[in-house]
Amino acid sequence: MKMRNRRAHLCADRATALSCAGIPLLFLILCSSLISTAHSACAAPAGRRLQGAASAPDRLLQSPTDNYVAGMEFIESWQSKRMPLKVYYKPGSDIPGFDPKYVDEAKAACQEWTRATEGKISFQTVDEAKDADIEFNWTTLLAPDLEHKMTLGATWPDTVGGEGIVHARIAILTTLDKRHVSLQAMKWAAMHELGHALGLGHSLRPSDVMYKDVVILSEVKGGDKEILPTSPNICLTSRDRTTMNVVYAAKKIIDDIRAKGLDKRNTCHDLCRAAANCMTNGDSGSAIIVLNEILRLDKTYSVASENLMAAYYNCGAALYNKNLNAEARQVLAKAINIGKTVGDQNRLNAIVAVYRNCQGN
Ligand SMILES: [Zn+2]
Repeated sequence: MKMRNRRAHLCADRATALSCAGIPLLFLILCSSLISTAHSACAAPAGRRLQGAASAPDRLLQSPTDNYVAGMEFIESWQSKRMPLKVYYKPGSDIPGFDPKYVDEAKAACQEWTRATEGKISFQTVDEAKDADIEFNWTTLLAPDLEHKMTLGATWPDTVGGEGIVHARIAILTTLDKRHVSLQAMKWAAMHELGHALGLGHSLRPSDVMYKDVVILSEVKGGDKEILPTSPNICLTSRDRTTMNVVYAAKKIIDDIRAKGLDKRNTCHDLCRAAANCMTNGDSGSAIIVLNEILRLDKTYSVASENLMAAYYNCGAALYNKNLNAEARQVLAKAINIGKTVGDQNRLNAIVAVYRNCQGN
């Protein structure tokens, strides 16, 4: 379930639990140190309230292990003013293997994500592709470069800087490897691809709908060969739901600040304060999204780089402390990549030390 031009970071190595001694202390020192840096560099003018997580009492997050924001290979989102998103389901009656019930599964997937976000993300069916924000297509070939890969679906989102996703096209196969795609497999594929169309990347955990490879091949006795998912009960996990909610809560922070119409410098400062506020509340996921937005606006904003390194480190350390070594390694690698540009060798060495402890045996 790949997205064009995006590379998934899979870490399939089996990792062994290692001692966590010393990690929490390092975590706290690094975190508080960088937060104070952010405050000193972005001090709010007297009398102005900090923007950020404190104004969003409905947040679900807290632990970086409850969501997979930090590990995603990309994070995008739609502006809230675009809701309800207009969805066009292209009739597939001329597509071999197409089952009209596929459309029902796609619509059910929309309802699942709406429920998961308590209506923050909503959808409306439209009759023509030209009116659509999101297009569902069914096909026997996703793209020439995917022809010989066991890929069931793909999503192509279009993004505009400062807005986010402005259009997405989803395509899902009706037949894969001469096997018919069952309704159960379509249900998973629709939820997964819609997750991409809404801005999520992949999870590293197989139980999540946004895991990269959930479907297995199977045969139905006495009938045609069908593709079935490994589990008969496909539904969004708590982590899927929390991740989507973190992404859209952070998007609201970003959009509210950008709506002020400040110049780039002050927008970055407000975003930086909001990110520091998120980190103070233990919400590294939102901080990561907001800090990435700053660097999208101004990649020379060094405080954002330092805090982003800390936020990834916080998430990686939390995963490591729960013995989720593959997930920790993925996130810590991001902290290390940023650390190489930040130039604080002591902090970089500390992160690298934790990363090495996560290496699988
Ligand atoms: Zn995918």
